[in-house]
Amino acid sequence: MTVLVGSAIQLLRGESGVFVVSNEAFDPQSSTEYTLYHLNKAAVPLLLAYVQESMQPNTLHPLVVETMPPDLATQLGLAEDVVEGQGVECCSLALYDEAGPLGTLYFLRLATLRSCFERNSDEDRTEPSTLHLFVLQLAASLRFALHSQSLLKEQGRLAAIFQYSTEGILTVDNALRIIDFNPAMERLTGWRENEVLGQFYIKVLRPKDRQGNDLGLQDSVILQAFAGQEVVNREMIISARDGQRFAVAVTASCVRSARGEPMNGILNVHDLTREHQQEEQRSTFISVISHELQTPIAIIKGYASTLARTDARFDSRTIRSRLIAIEEEADRLNKLVGNLLYASRIQANGLQMDIITLDLENLIRSMVRRLQARTSGVQISLSIPPHLPAVMADRERIEEVLQNLLDNAVKYSPRHPEITITCYVTGEEVIVSVRDAGMGIALREQEQIFDRFHRVGEPLSQSTPGAGLGLYICKAIIEAHGGRIWVESTLRQGSTFSFSLPREEKAPLPMVVF
Ligand code: ADP
Repeated sequence: MTVLVGSAIQLLRGESGVFVVSNEAFDPQSSTEYTLYHLNKAAVPLLLAYVQESMQPNTLHPLVVETMPPDLATQLGLAEDVVEGQGVECCSLALYDEAGPLGTLYFLRLATLRSCFERNSDEDRTEPSTLHLFVLQLAASLRFALHSQSLLKEQGRLAAIFQYSTEGILTVDNALRIIDFNPAMERLTGWRENEVLGQFYIKVLRPKDRQGNDLGLQDSVILQAFAGQEVVNREMIISARDGQRFAVAVTASCVRSARGEPMNGILNVHDLTREHQQEEQRSTFISVISHELQTPIAIIKGYASTLARTDARFDSRTIRSRLIAIEEEADRLNKLVGNLLYASRIQANGLQMDIITLDLENLIRSMVRRLQARTSGVQISLSIPPHLPAVMADRERIEEVLQNLLDNAVKYSPRHPEITITCYVTGEEVIVSVRDAGMGIALREQEQIFDRFHRVGEPLSQSTPGAGLGLYICKAIIEAHGGRIWVESTLRQGSTFSFSLPREEKAPLPMVVF
């Protein structure tokens, strides 16, 4: 565009100028500037304001020439010798072609110069003047350049959508061979684009229906789109490179030639794993909660109705042990309801905290003393380096985190819990680890145990009371302090849960985490 506008201005003997696309034809914002000498770029808007107001384009006499007022020349910063010596003209050239008006070329030139197009301009009225022919040619070339420019922009936009879409997109030719495979598709399937280009798309995705039956060529959603059928959010199972299967919803569409023949197929692939997980979570929630609520209620009711029998006599030891059991079950119920409320508060409002300078060593030692007094047969060792730096934290909440990790270490250690608490210090953080030698957690479960209501599928874990809320709450608390929490574990050997808290001097302002 710039070359075209520049050459046109030079042919008209102009020095600087700007091409403005007319509103009807294209985007009103678009203009192309061309500056040779004398006019600096910053002066272009000034020139434009003047010429657009005073020089109306006119298709009968496309070229309008006016002497530039000297004060405008000074405002535009034109060299004094130019202004005073030869004078400057403002010119506007209306551009149009068969398709209609296209825009206007505004330019400046020295008053002494004339272009070859103006010599015979009004002499022969029966022939189109050379100026008119020049205008037609220039407008046609500019229109073509503008179309190419907008096509390039469109292409850029589409490429960005394709590149950054979080939905998987693949396109195929009319023989169903893959020609594009976007990054989201790579993440979803584990295949790299260069490995699948040219491959039959069904071979790459290996689609199956929900019952696990292969969906072959006859069931191809892209062929259905080619045949004019609507394919929107069709659920199916596809396989990743490593063989892992997952549910997706696909939408297929067809790009046709001018004659209506299918040229390309486009497949949008939406991963349903998260939706399915949420559904699963909802049903787990109901079963976990009903089990966790019903068990203590049944025990309390059982013991209470036994004690209330008038036909039986109990010695004081039996009565006391039943009352203790009732009290323990009521505590368990109370804790569960408390955790449920806590979790829903975290979801709704985030966590607000009361941050103080906290001496972690003091907190850990007092908690260990309490745990040892409460439970027999638990062996706890401590490893805390001297002069453990203070952290900025909410004492009560960090106590909850530690309590939860210690309770879990005891709960999920089938025989004689052996627990080690270790503190480490790095330049930025203090790290606290709680290690047990219990049942351990399989690798594939390790990330999920921090999700709400997630409980490991191992029989021992399932038979241990719990609602899968403790670690979710711990994570929310630690992250609200700007720290991290994680687990390292080997099945049947033990687990180490660690969390970090920023050192006092590095602590960020308390955050509210949703
Ligand atoms: P729960 O109330 O079920 O214990 P948590 O959120 O504290 O809830 O823990 C989630 C799940 O993580 C537990 O159900 C258990 O399967 C597993 N888990 C937690 N801590 C341990 C541990 N120390 N050893 C083995 N498994 C653990």
